[in-house]
Amino acid sequence: MPSEFELIARYFTRAPRAGGSVLLGVGDDCALLTPQAGEVIAVSTDMLVEGRHFFASTDPEALGHKALAVNLSDLAAMGARPLGFTLALALPAADERWIAPFARGLLALADAHAIPLVGGDTTRGPLNLCITVLGSVAPELALRRDGARPGDEIWVSGELGDARLAVETLIGNAGMGELPNGAAARLHRPQPRVALGLALRGIASAAIDVSDGLLGDLSHILERSGVGAMVEAEAVPVGAALARHPLARQWEFALNGGDDYELCFTATADQHARVITAATDAGVPVTRIGRILQGSGLQVVDGSGQTLTIASRSFDHFADE
Ligand code: ADP
Ligand code: MG
Repeated sequence: MPSEFELIARYFTRAPRAGGSVLLGVGDDCALLTPQAGEVIAVSTDMLVEGRHFFASTDPEALGHKALAVNLSDLAAMGARPLGFTLALALPAADERWIAPFARGLLALADAHAIPLVGGDTTRGPLNLCITVLGSVAPELALRRDGARPGDEIWVSGELGDARLAVETLIGNAGMGELPNGAAARLHRPQPRVALGLALRGIASAAIDVSDGLLGDLSHILERSGVGAMVEAEAVPVGAALARHPLARQWEFALNGGDDYELCFTATADQHARVITAATDAGVPVTRIGRILQGSGLQVVDGSGQTLTIASRSFDHFADE
């Protein structure tokens, strides 16, 4: 079996791109990165634990993609430009049949977003992946959670709920039917909305990425901004696979599903046209789904304006243990 250092050299070390933000990458005590003048560092960490965030049977190439995708999604939600990332990896064995495809999936997405792997740690242990992403953004342009104001429109990118449909199908819940490829791809290969996050700088008033379910994640914006909101359930874009299911399930999965990795953001009504243009430039559809209100609380209404009782159930790892 290869040693730790052979693994790092073989799979996780590549020459930094000339002229990029990496002065020094893998191989020294620290990496050295150069942010652009006038920008601050945006940093975020996400951990993926086998049995908790992914199934043991998950294709390692898809896992490599997803581990970085969920972290890039946080940079997207901040409007930050990717600078580099680190990878802390605990592996039960130095099994190259697993590591090679994992590194392939990881580095393919890294290349697609021009974000280099600049360091990490490799150890033996129960399979556990922890990525830290570093980005940079001008402080006044960062898409924070605390900037939503009464009257702002609420938007979401892409479509929601297909990833949750895929999870329900994979864990064998009854009545889900066949799992279409598109829904499985939404779960295993989320596409972080980095270009959209960048395009929304100076336009959106607040943003978050939808990882735990739209209503729960929107609630974080509301709490941090000290405002309330009204969401029109029928306006929420539902994934193509989920759209073939009964309406109650569509709303449950689209509003509370999780694993969507779309952006939910707010912007003043007079930015409406600029939001559409930014989305077109980024190549991602966006949909207006509601409005920020004075006060507090999140109200979800149906097409006739009736309040729906769809409580936001954000995922909590320590909830029913
Ligand atoms: P240290 O003793 O300083 O922790 P290591 O021997 O753990 O250094 O790692 C050597 C170099 O390899 C460091 O630059 C570290 O950032 C990098 N590295 C270790 N594991 C990984 C990994 N999984 N992916 C990328 N770089 C890694
Ligand atoms: Mg180390």
